[in-house]
Amino acid sequence: MEPLTEHPPTFLDILNRPLRSLRLSVTDRCNLRCQYCMPEEEYVWLPRKGILTLEEASRLVDIFAELGVTKVRLTGGEPLVRRDLSALVGMIARNPRIEDLAITTNGLLLAESAKALYDAGLHRVTVSLDTLRPDRFMALTRKDSHAKVLNGIKAAQRAGFKGLKIDSVIMRGVNDDELVDLLEFGRQIDAEVRFIEYMDVGGATHWSMEKVVSRAEMLEALTRQYGRIEPVASAGWAPADQFILPDGTVFGIVASTTTPFCRTCDRSRLTADGTWYLCLYAQRGTDLRTPLRAGASKAELISLIVSGWTKRSDRGAEERHELRFREVLVSAEGLRQDPRLEMHTRGG
Ligand code: SAM
Ligand code: SF4
Ligand code: SF4
Repeated sequence: MEPLTEHPPTFLDILNRPLRSLRLSVTDRCNLRCQYCMPEEEYVWLPRKGILTLEEASRLVDIFAELGVTKVRLTGGEPLVRRDLSALVGMIARNPRIEDLAITTNGLLLAESAKALYDAGLHRVTVSLDTLRPDRFMALTRKDSHAKVLNGIKAAQRAGFKGLKIDSVIMRGVNDDELVDLLEFGRQIDAEVRFIEYMDVGGATHWSMEKVVSRAEMLEALTRQYGRIEPVASAGWAPADQFILPDGTVFGIVASTTTPFCRTCDRSRLTADGTWYLCLYAQRGTDLRTPLRAGASKAELISLIVSGWTKRSDRGAEERHELRFREVLVSAEGLRQDPRLEMHTRGG
């Protein structure tokens, strides 16, 4: 680590949003095939030699941290299929500027890795789990591994992780009858459940507006069960709106499809091959790997990132929301031509 400058600067984009949060995809490979993310039979993968080493990824994170990033979320693909992930966690956790280091995982490999991740300094875990029914899990993900996810969740809690979150993408006719069950499950295990609207991101080649269950519909269904639900006041930068049930249970809804929140988006994304995207919906990114491998100085990389962020005007989900006819974002053929457009490459 190079010595810290006293106060990290705040770089604002054109819409006055600070560069504060980085989603770091550590691999584009995944051990599930969720219907809303990887519904196709075949995928084009990022070439292996282009994948950043752990040291390269950590160097870039350090540079982002110098520029004001305090929150890093490890993602994928499935981040736990990346070998030696806890070594990367250790490198990032050593950076005192990173106040929040989290992972989003499907949980399949969590039982084996939770302790090492905790010991390496990971702060928080979010497990994606859309159903409590093993047969439905199999239909949704093409893998008979529901029990492994539940074991993974238990192992994470045993390892010492507090404030576990469960993310559930809700699709009409698929799992929209499980809102209450998922909330009850969260309550039982002391985890906050966040319902996510089905998004028309790259990779969601089976998306249609009819399959989206809106935040309003979710709240209506939950109100029928629990009575009055109140919103929780928030600092305004988190993607999930929080709500509270009459008994004090807090849950979240990420309503990117029907109520986008681009105006408060402080996030950017780095793919496993070092391409930096300013928005989940962006068509083009900035290649940071080539200059990194060509020996660019820290100042040169900083200048590249600052110049990208200060020109940022992206508001992808809002623009999608303004469309009169909303169809699949990128065709399967388009995704084959540029796999970086995939949600599983960008990390969600
Ligand atoms: N594999 C890990 C996992 O599933 O947690 C991390 C990567 S995954 C791309 C990150 C998040 O994106 C997951 O919570 C997943 O449910 C969400 N996601 C993927 N496709 C989505 C879609 N079409 N709409 C909404 N959320 C989606
Ligand atoms: Fe499912 Fe995550 Fe894999 Fe996508 S990346 S298929 S959401 S487990
Ligand atoms: Fe941020 Fe883009 Fe998502 Fe809007 S669509 S919240 S700008 S990443």
